[in-house]
Amino acid sequence: MSRNCSHLVMVWTVLVGFVFTASPLRAQEKPNVIVILTDDQGYGDVGFNGCKDIPTPNIDRIADNGVKFTNAYVTYAVCGPSRAGIITGRYQDRFGFGRNPLCAPQDTAQGLPRSEETLAKVLSRSAYTSIALGKWHLGAHKSQYPLKRGFDEFYGFLSGGHKYFPNEWTLNDVSEIKAQFDAYNTRLMRDNGRVDEKEYLTDALSREAVSFIERKADVPFFMYLAFNAPHAPLQATEKYLKRFSYIKNKKRRIYAAMVSAVDDGVGRVLNKLEELGISDNTLIFFLSDNGGPEHKNGSDNGVLRDGKGSLYEGGIHVPFAVQWPGHIPAGKVYEKSVSSLDIVATAVTYAKVTPKNKLDGVNLIPFVNGENEGEPHEQLFWRKYDQKAYAARCGDHKLVKYKSDTEEIYNLKADISESNSLALTEENHYSNLKSDYQSWEDEMEDPVFLGLMKGKEYNKLHPERFKMLSPFKVDTLVGKAPEGYELLWTEEFDQDGKPNSEKWAFEEGFVRNNELQWYQSDNANVRDGALVIEGRKETVKNTKYKKRSKNWRTDRKNAEYTSSSIKTKDKFSFQYGVLEVRAKIDTRMGMWPAIWTLGVDQKWPANGEIDLMEFYRHEGKAKILANAAWANAEKNAVWDSEKIPFYKFTEKEKDWADKFHIWKMDWTANYIRIYLDDELLNEIDLSKTLNADGYNPFHQPHYILLNLAIGANGGNPLDTDFPGKYEVDYVRIYQKK
Ligand code: CA
Repeated sequence: MSRNCSHLVMVWTVLVGFVFTASPLRAQEKPNVIVILTDDQGYGDVGFNGCKDIPTPNIDRIADNGVKFTNAYVTYAVCGPSRAGIITGRYQDRFGFGRNPLCAPQDTAQGLPRSEETLAKVLSRSAYTSIALGKWHLGAHKSQYPLKRGFDEFYGFLSGGHKYFPNEWTLNDVSEIKAQFDAYNTRLMRDNGRVDEKEYLTDALSREAVSFIERKADVPFFMYLAFNAPHAPLQATEKYLKRFSYIKNKKRRIYAAMVSAVDDGVGRVLNKLEELGISDNTLIFFLSDNGGPEHKNGSDNGVLRDGKGSLYEGGIHVPFAVQWPGHIPAGKVYEKSVSSLDIVATAVTYAKVTPKNKLDGVNLIPFVNGENEGEPHEQLFWRKYDQKAYAARCGDHKLVKYKSDTEEIYNLKADISESNSLALTEENHYSNLKSDYQSWEDEMEDPVFLGLMKGKEYNKLHPERFKMLSPFKVDTLVGKAPEGYELLWTEEFDQDGKPNSEKWAFEEGFVRNNELQWYQSDNANVRDGALVIEGRKETVKNTKYKKRSKNWRTDRKNAEYTSSSIKTKDKFSFQYGVLEVRAKIDTRMGMWPAIWTLGVDQKWPANGEIDLMEFYRHEGKAKILANAAWANAEKNAVWDSEKIPFYKFTEKEKDWADKFHIWKMDWTANYIRIYLDDELLNEIDLSKTLNADGYNPFHQPHYILLNLAIGANGGNPLDTDFPGKYEVDYVRIYQKK
């Protein structure tokens, strides 16, 4: 199976100077893009790099059908940052991804910053459909899930590693983890929710890859197939283990079986593409995310020094091959330095789409076709921020500061194993390498989150890390209709920016109840998957001010506070069903947040008001209210109100106010029941809610309001620190089928 290096050098010699001429790309054709990423696989552990004891005939097919790179690099020596570089096509240090992320499902910052676009996101603008398979490791907060980062589908897991056997997946999802490595034991996810998977993990991912190709054969697609094999833990099935009975070392034997499972999967993918006749229109990259940790998983980086984590070649110099039959030559060896950053740059060129951010990679195709005989990269750089370690490669020379107290220079062409450090002189390009590295580093950002190596420090700062926001479950990310109901309307607040104007309108100015705040649109914004309404202490002009006015709306020159109130009036209304809102409220003095509805017909209170939630001070005591109001003969409000002292909630849960909770209304022709976290707070009998004229305002459609008032019933905000913050995760309405 394996080929030897001297033979490959000969092939290269023959190909030098040969410009590959393929039929020109037809303008309307956009190639499918597949990135097959393995995890912690050694440079020497593929047949195309000379591996002797683990046959990888299918992975080798990619090199045979296309080009293998002998000097290919990833941008970091461990998983997370390397993947951030691959998926964005940008040095991850540009956006502060300089550490391996922790599994912190409540932390929006622990993952890919929102400034960054994934390749899936970019390609979606060119009508690509996409899937992420396997290991994600770019953030475990729901705002970081693959479907929130540009992918159309996801099948895999969020964390940096995972067990391989389904019987070990004892936790439902990341809401149940209590420690970093518990995330290895969660069930797999399909899209945003969990699934019941029965196959060995690697086989399941291969199956899903084939299924996606079958389903999407007729449209341009992008598949990010991120096998976590052969990353630890070392686990393989008998089917693969028995292929390697000749390997004496147990670690290496299991490792070989895991690589072999990946190779089978690659074979299934290649076969499916060929069977469907779309192989020639599919650009496939194969690589490992970093070098092999030889002692940990039994991998082999061949002649390269060190392994995973290191800035010597063994950590960052990876197996890498690309195929695109008919467009690039077959069986070619390319020796100049290339980078995993080049994947995005190559893909977007042929997808004819421009990324929002500037890329650090280059389109590799002209280089492998011989159209461009220059260097794809004048320089490549690496930084390990916490270790103050770095490396730079320019041509054959590499500067590295790692482990040793001093900088070292190697000529990699003569000394790929980095065994003879050269003098730090002009002749060895020392000052150029050093100053180029420094100018590059000046453009980079410090890490924006604490990483895996700083877990203890992180836990101290975030004692709530594993105390999931009740009832924050992966399942709640997708609305689950009650038995016999279906989703009628949903607002997930998942597009950053202003609330969707097709659904929401803003209230303006002084509106009701002699409240202190001036309502304005500026204070309501969608961020990280939730609506955030901010109560601010700021002076704004009352545009309706009238001298000598006796009306509270017009007698004040200024408002001293601002906030927002949004409503679906004239945009959406509904009659009967289940309304569910997940929100976190500010319970400090002065705050009066609410979730409520008003009938579309007649004036208040004859139109009917339903308060799923109000929080304010009543008789000086903080209370949560659940009410309905209608009109008596004098057109005053008649209330059916429950006022539950707030301490009843904090007694049960000390940090109640720091968490999200679910308010729910079950509204039928006969009753309205209002629940908080599934506890019934009030039941309103609709046979008794007639206005004086006999009209029942709860037998008509209602629209929804979300607002944060300040002052009035909320109490005096004078001693409260501003801003106040009211967050709404989603609003969902279900109706009977
Ligand atoms: Ca890795």
